[in-house]
Amino acid sequence: MHATREDNAGPPVTLVVLNIALVDDDLSHHRSPLVAHILAPRPQQITTGLELAINHMATAVSQQTAEVNRATLARAVEREAPTTPSSKFGLLLDSLKHYLHVQEEQELPEFWFQFAAASKKQEFSVLRDYLELYARSEYAFIAASPVLTPKLHSDLATVTFVADHLDDLKAGIQPFMAMDGSEEYRAAAMELARSYGLLYERDHGVSLSDLTQLKVPKDLRSYPSNFYDLERSLGLFGNLLGAILGNTHPLTVAYRPFWTAFVKRYRDRLINEIDGNRAIKPVHILQSIQLICYDWFDAKRTRTPPGTPDFIDIWKRIGLKAYNLPQLPPALYFMIYPMSNLLKSPPSIISGSQPSGSATTPASRVSTEGSIASGVSTLTSGTGATGATGVSRAGSMVVNESPDRHLLALIPFNKKLKEVIGDSQPPSTDAGEVICLSYHVKGGCFTNCRRKQTHGITLSMGEKERLANYIADRLAKLGN
Ligand SMILES: [Zn+2]
Repeated sequence: MHATREDNAGPPVTLVVLNIALVDDDLSHHRSPLVAHILAPRPQQITTGLELAINHMATAVSQQTAEVNRATLARAVEREAPTTPSSKFGLLLDSLKHYLHVQEEQELPEFWFQFAAASKKQEFSVLRDYLELYARSEYAFIAASPVLTPKLHSDLATVTFVADHLDDLKAGIQPFMAMDGSEEYRAAAMELARSYGLLYERDHGVSLSDLTQLKVPKDLRSYPSNFYDLERSLGLFGNLLGAILGNTHPLTVAYRPFWTAFVKRYRDRLINEIDGNRAIKPVHILQSIQLICYDWFDAKRTRTPPGTPDFIDIWKRIGLKAYNLPQLPPALYFMIYPMSNLLKSPPSIISGSQPSGSATTPASRVSTEGSIASGVSTLTSGTGATGATGVSRAGSMVVNESPDRHLLALIPFNKKLKEVIGDSQPPSTDAGEVICLSYHVKGGCFTNCRRKQTHGITLSMGEKERLANYIADRLAKLGN
C-alpha cells in the first residue's frame, strides 16, 4: 500500500516529500496547493526517531543556554550590587586593615567604602572623583589632585601598598606614584587616565593588552627637577596619603607637620639647596620619603611594629647640614645625572640593588663611580677600534627602566664591568646576539652601543641564567 496524503493517517512527512521528489518531478515545479500544504513544516508531527533526537538536543541546548544566561545575569547583578569592603576585598581585607592601621572594617577611611560600593564599571571614575574631592577639602595639602593612573588603580584594587622591592618606584603608596613632573607628563598621564576610565566603563574589565597600550610615552617620563616641581610633588603625595590612608593614619599624621615645616620654615633653605647650589636633587627628597613609606609598610607586611614614620627628620637634617643623600635606584640615577656628571664625580651613587633598610642611608661610596663609568665604557672599548676610553663618543643615554634586580646585584660595587668582562665574550641572546651587560646588568647604556640590538629586550629565563653563570664564572676567575 502506498502512502496516502491524508493528514490524520499519514506516514511520516519526510517520507511523503521524498516520494514526491522521486516519483514525479513535475509536481515540484508547479506546486499544487495540496503539495504546498504537505511541504509546509508541521512542527507538531515529529515522529521519526531522528527528529525526536534532534528535538531533544535542541531543547537541551536551549535549556543550557538559558541556564548559562541566568548564571551570567546573576553574576552581573552580583558584580553591580553595592558591596562593603569585606565583601569586595574578601581575603585581602585583613591586609587592608593592617596597612590602614585599623582594627575594624568600620574604621576604614571613607575612600574604601566608596571604592567597595562602586560598580566595577564606575570604580575608576569614583576613585578619581574622590581624589579630586579631597584636593578641594579643608584637609588638602595643595589644591591639585594626584592623577589616578591605571597602575595606582590596580595597586589599590589588589591592596598593594608596598612594592616587593625597595628600589621599585612603580608600585605601592609612595611619592613617585603621585609626582607629575612636567606639564607634558601631567597632560599625558591625564589623557591616559581618561582613556583608561572610558575603557573601564565600556567593559567589565580591562585586559592586559589594554594596559600595555596605556603607558605614558617614555620620552615624557619626567621627574621633578626644580624646587617648584618638588613642592607640587610633595603636596600631591600629601593628598594621596590623606585620601587613601585617611587623615588619622600614622603616615598622614606624620606627613602633615613635615609639610607645614616645609612651607613655613624650610622653603628658602630648600630653594637654595635645590635650585641654588644644587646640592640636593628633588628626587633625593622623594626617595627619602619613599624609603620611610616602604619601611613602614614593610613592617606592617611582616607583622612587626612599624615605629613612628619620621618625615620631618629629613628637614632637620638638611637644616643641620647633616642630610645624607639616599641611594637612588639605577634607573633613576641614570635618568637624573647627565653623562658628564656620571663620568666625573657623582654626588650620589647608584646602589646596585641591595636594600639598605634605612631612610637616610649614606650614599657617599665614591668607589662605585668607577663601576658606572666602566659599565659605560666597556661598550666601545671592546674592539679597540672605537677607542679605549669611550668617554668621547656621542649618543644619548638609555635607561633600563625595568631591570632585573637579581642581575643588577650580580656585580659588586667595587668591580668594574670592563674588569669583569676582560677579554672574554659575554653570553648571547637566544637569537645569537651578544647581550649588552651595561644595559642589563648595570641598568643603562648609550644609544650608539654596538650591542644596542639587545637593549630594551626582555631577557628569557635561559638568557638570565647564562648571564648569571657567566658573571659568577668571571668573578670566580678574578678571585671573588
Ligand atoms: Zn649597550
